[in-house]
Amino acid sequence: MKDQLPCVICNVYYPMTVIGTEFFISTGVCLRCYAMGVELPSEIWCFGKPKMYVPASDACKRLCPDRVVCRRVVQGNVDFGIIGL
Ligand SMILES: [Zn+2]
Repeated sequence: MKDQLPCVICNVYYPMTVIGTEFFISTGVCLRCYAMGVELPSEIWCFGKPKMYVPASDACKRLCPDRVVCRRVVQGNVDFGIIGL
């Protein structure tokens, strides 16, 4: 798959043209999987849950691999509408 990158969770390949919108290169995770993560119980994936998001905590500020995308979701700056959600 030339010029395409696989999501590390679902293994679907995404073209470079959707990086930053449907695919996040900082984590290698796609928007569809993040949409799923928002719905999952916090014990499995706390991603995207405002009540779990504590900006000043070490986890949210420094350790969580999803910290950049998570902050964008909490702030409403990720458009799940582009994948029909
Ligand atoms: Zn995925």
